[in-house]
Amino acid sequence: MGSRPIINVHNPATLEKVGQAVSTLPEEVPGLVEKARQAQSDWAIRPLAERTKILRQVQSALVDRADEMAELVSQETGKPFMESLATDIMNAISVADFAIGRVEHLFRESKVDLGKLSSPMRLLGRSSYLVPRPLGVIGLITPWNYPLAIPYSQAMMCLAAGNAVLIKPSSTTPLTALRMRELMEESGSPPMLVQVAIGAGTEVGEAVASSTVDRIIFTGHTEVGRRIMTLASQRLTPITLELGGKDAFIVMKDADLNRTAKAACWGSFVNCGQTCAAIKRIYVHRSILDKFTALLVKEVRSLRQGYDINDPTISVGPMISERAVLDMEVQVSRAMEQGAKVLVGGKRTEGLPGHFFEPTLLSIPTQNMDIVRQETFGPIVAIMTFDTEEEAVRMANDSAFALNGSVWTADLEQGRRLATTLKAGTVMVNNVAYTYGLGATPWGGRGESGFGRTHGDMGFEELVERQHLHVDKGKFSSEIWWPPYEKENLEAMRDFTGLIFNGKRDRLLHRLLNVRRLMRR
Ligand code: NAD
Repeated sequence: MGSRPIINVHNPATLEKVGQAVSTLPEEVPGLVEKARQAQSDWAIRPLAERTKILRQVQSALVDRADEMAELVSQETGKPFMESLATDIMNAISVADFAIGRVEHLFRESKVDLGKLSSPMRLLGRSSYLVPRPLGVIGLITPWNYPLAIPYSQAMMCLAAGNAVLIKPSSTTPLTALRMRELMEESGSPPMLVQVAIGAGTEVGEAVASSTVDRIIFTGHTEVGRRIMTLASQRLTPITLELGGKDAFIVMKDADLNRTAKAACWGSFVNCGQTCAAIKRIYVHRSILDKFTALLVKEVRSLRQGYDINDPTISVGPMISERAVLDMEVQVSRAMEQGAKVLVGGKRTEGLPGHFFEPTLLSIPTQNMDIVRQETFGPIVAIMTFDTEEEAVRMANDSAFALNGSVWTADLEQGRRLATTLKAGTVMVNNVAYTYGLGATPWGGRGESGFGRTHGDMGFEELVERQHLHVDKGKFSSEIWWPPYEKENLEAMRDFTGLIFNGKRDRLLHRLLNVRRLMRR
């Protein structure tokens, strides 16, 4: 076994070293899965009340140490302290609270309604049930942009559903994940139940995707999602993919423009635009374009960018790396070549030590531009116009991504109508990008934004199997479809089919008695 590489973690805002973490070796991953599996077999048979009690202890420990954890998140990502608290800690706690409160419901056994076969099956003494059971060990491969909210909420959902987890956090933000595991164990989570594999995606991440985990939940770039799906397919491991976004924001002419401009500003530049559900495409009704744009430009110009966790007025942090800044420079210059006009920003921020890029608004003449098509994981948003509702919907839906979207209007009926024609996993009327923290609501997309759901009952369903249990009281010694096959059985079968599915009830008693006689032979 080789020596374990050391990962040095730097604050992208100050470039100062925050700490270091020791990598896991890819060949160690199967052993971690095995340890998690052993811990899970004990966890799964503990009474629900005991499991939820432990998870509640974890939650209160996180609430007690919210500031400490938020500080670490800010150090690893450079994001404003307010964002670490509101979007990492708060979302983490909120989703886990849903999960813990919903466990009883998740594990409720249900009887299957057998439809037209219900009555005959009852007479024959048979019933079908769905018995929920944990899947086993879930592999969570998580990104850097919400280094607590994503692994914590996903892990707590998995644990609540009786599983163990193997978390592979981003190698950019390993410290938050390690601190989170420590906090879980300190507050009573069984040792080994939460495993963390630190290291590069191409090595340790691939080892997790190729391992014997029982499901993979991957959150990250679309291209990486494709690679993970290929690896997981070798063992037919089921996967959930939470990938990139290119969210549309439609402003109708009757929208409350002040509120809408504030929302567009926050939704575009939260986490410096490095949010899967950040707004990337703003479609404005032509009649209000100038007024709305002026309001939005004013909002964006008033944002203070920088890094100081003791200064609550800083509202935009850095990008995660120099590479990310370079990517923004390339995207802006390509957009300008293709006809975009910079309304605000458009370049790296001067006078700050870290990887800063200015919040940028681009006016876009046409939809057929790279800036509208490709994922822009940073603080750039494109503004376009429309004349009719149909045009707005067509433009918004003309994207390979489909994660979130929003419609802004005073007419809630119109808002609902438009929202439900948009191609996206979550669509909001008059709000934006914040439902990740509403634990009871599903999270996920389609197309290049991935598939499957985390959070809510739909997310919970992906963490259990519902075993079909069929119980027969064994009243009869045979079945009409068991050998020896005979003409009499064939006719009874035909009779039975006609009776049940076509309601042919003539000589009903005679035929039922005949079936019963054949089954008693
Ligand atoms: P990323 O895809 O680079 O990395 C995500 C995780 O995958 C990391 O842990 C990384 O180490 C690992 N990884 C990378 N290559 C791998 C490989 N070949 N095999 C296995 N694992 C590998 O993403 P990122 O830069 O950390 O995060 C940004 C991306 O995540 C954006 O595209 C963003 O839209 C997306 N995201 C989506 C959601 C969502 O809920 N849909 C939420 C947050 C972020």
